[in-house]
Amino acid sequence: MKILVINSGSSSIKFQLLDMAHESVLASGLVERIGESQGLIKCTLRPGTDKALVVEKMDYIADHTSGMRLAVEILTDKDQGVIADKSDVGAVGHRVVHGGEDFHQPTVITSEVLAAIEKNIPLAPLHNPANMDGIRVAQELFGGAIQVAVFDTAFHQTIPPHAYHYALPYELYEKERVRRYGFHGTSHKFVAGECAKVKGRPLEELNLITIHLGNGCSMTAVENGRSVDTSLGFTPLEGLVMGTRSGDVDPAIHAFLARNCNMDIEAIDALLNKDSGLKGLCGMNDMRDIHAAITAGNERAKLALAVQTYRNKKYIGAFMAVLGRVDAIIFTAGIGENDEVVRAMSLQGLEPFGISLDREANSRRMKNPTLISKKKSRVQVWVIPTNEELAIARETRTVLSR
Ligand code: AMP
Repeated sequence: MKILVINSGSSSIKFQLLDMAHESVLASGLVERIGESQGLIKCTLRPGTDKALVVEKMDYIADHTSGMRLAVEILTDKDQGVIADKSDVGAVGHRVVHGGEDFHQPTVITSEVLAAIEKNIPLAPLHNPANMDGIRVAQELFGGAIQVAVFDTAFHQTIPPHAYHYALPYELYEKERVRRYGFHGTSHKFVAGECAKVKGRPLEELNLITIHLGNGCSMTAVENGRSVDTSLGFTPLEGLVMGTRSGDVDPAIHAFLARNCNMDIEAIDALLNKDSGLKGLCGMNDMRDIHAAITAGNERAKLALAVQTYRNKKYIGAFMAVLGRVDAIIFTAGIGENDEVVRAMSLQGLEPFGISLDREANSRRMKNPTLISKKKSRVQVWVIPTNEELAIARETRTVLSR
């Protein structure tokens, strides 16, 4: 079975076509700058093989449908393509950011499901409409394929009420559904599952702390294989320090900014989402630039690294308290997989809690799941690469076999 995975944003579509017989990637690509004067599509056919081919086209791409049509042309090209016809795609798996309280697992998309995704637009005003565009396009172009929605929030629907409620008037939950939802669920679930595989133990027996550190950052407490708490909240702004997002701040800062800095709520929202985090502290949001700046003696860059890793450590401590026994801590995503300094600083001083990092193992580059704690470490520490496209494809296959 061939599964197409679609991650549709407001002006872009990321896609990957997988052959699930061997979980191999037949093609992966990105349509960008949809609706702008010059759009771009870049697609790699047969990546990682000796027949790999990169196809790039620049053209005006009016909307998501035209973008996806271009992708289909490349995928089905009679000389270089990877499928003979678009009817070879058996199912399409869609990343959908917000499933609210309606979806606990991936779901075949029906008109009722689309209506429920639409109902959740107020909770994710930028993401859900874009995800819906992707679904409509795929329904139009791949009419014969089963469409499946895989929700970023679904894995966290097992979080108990005492962890998902904010201490706000209860009516805000009842009327407006204000509560913690959590995000990056597909990634947290995927690395938790991979950890169970490498440890050779059932996921249902494992207590884990999964740490996703990329442009967006989040941490999840996994008890017996289920999410019981996570750092992202009602929106993907709470918790850890991210590339441009603040993570936790005193909520009174909003009122202070409004009263004293002449900012309206839109400006405050933009400040916290786009101009804060690592970027707010030192002007850079890419951890590679921050390391280069630190080497050059930039004190603000040093501060940004210290603030982020201190926050990571604080959350690790909190989630250890939540879980009691922790079998493994897992680092994943762009920073988590590649940055030994961030990993080491986030775990610094945690030896009394049974966490001993193996410095040599930590400094090796890893493409595969790698144990980076010492043998004697009571809590294992792993680096496990995430793969959201493969995770969505696997979830899609699971839905089809239900
Ligand atoms: P992601 O959202 O998972 O794609 O992660 C993107 C972020 O990972 C970038 O903004 C960088 O901060 C970080 N990153 C990627 N590669 C490296 C690397 N080799 N070392 C440190 N940070 C990295």
